[in-house]
Amino acid sequence: MISSPDNTIESIILRDASKQFRSALSSNIVNTVLAFATSVFLVIIPFGISWSNLWIFQAVGLTTTVYSAVVYWRFKAKPSTSFTVHCLFLAVLGFLLAPAPAIFFGGLLYGFAGYQMASVRYWMRQGRNSQLIRCTRDGGEVAVFGGTSLVCTKCSRLLKVGFDVPVRWRNIGLGALIIGVVLRIIVALASRPIADILIIPAGPLLANGIVVAFSQLNSYGALRGSVRLPPNVPSSPGSPAPS
Ligand SMILES: [Zn+2]
Repeated sequence: MISSPDNTIESIILRDASKQFRSALSSNIVNTVLAFATSVFLVIIPFGISWSNLWIFQAVGLTTTVYSAVVYWRFKAKPSTSFTVHCLFLAVLGFLLAPAPAIFFGGLLYGFAGYQMASVRYWMRQGRNSQLIRCTRDGGEVAVFGGTSLVCTKCSRLLKVGFDVPVRWRNIGLGALIIGVVLRIIVALASRPIADILIIPAGPLLANGIVVAFSQLNSYGALRGSVRLPPNVPSSPGSPAPS
């Protein structure tokens, strides 16, 4: 573990990680408030939902938010790649809370915070392993661009800590989305006992699948630029321009 990075790529990863910890904390706070307000509403208005079905989301949501705050403040005081273990716990908690009942987005903000933490963990581990840091999509070498950004020297894509994850993780997320949608359809059609069982995995799969799918919009160009990199090997003067 390295506490004071002299490597510029690692210092960019740590700087971006700090922003992602703050962003995840904001999402967790907003979702905790939304989930609490929803629970109060559902209990006051007689929908037949009792507090006993909702308190577990409140308890885990509040715990996650407090934990997320402690991790952010501790990281801000002393940034280090040793925070990967906290990223893992925060990611798992976020994914578990993604199907929490709440107005507007449900528990999706918890899920997005979990996704960010998973991505931060991935980049921190890369930064810690003192090997060549590689692009999540094509394995190209990652370099510093403009002193403040990370760029893949193979696909020229700007890489972002907190959004970019390995292709395999993306495929798992999109697989979860498809299975979640299929389960939801079966739940709507199936008889009561089968539906009651299938709705349990359908919630987390669907919610986290949506989180991964939306995060890819950012990761895959909709909101993301690529840059024109100078060629690694300068061409000799007078050589014909490449077609
Ligand atoms: Zn690349």
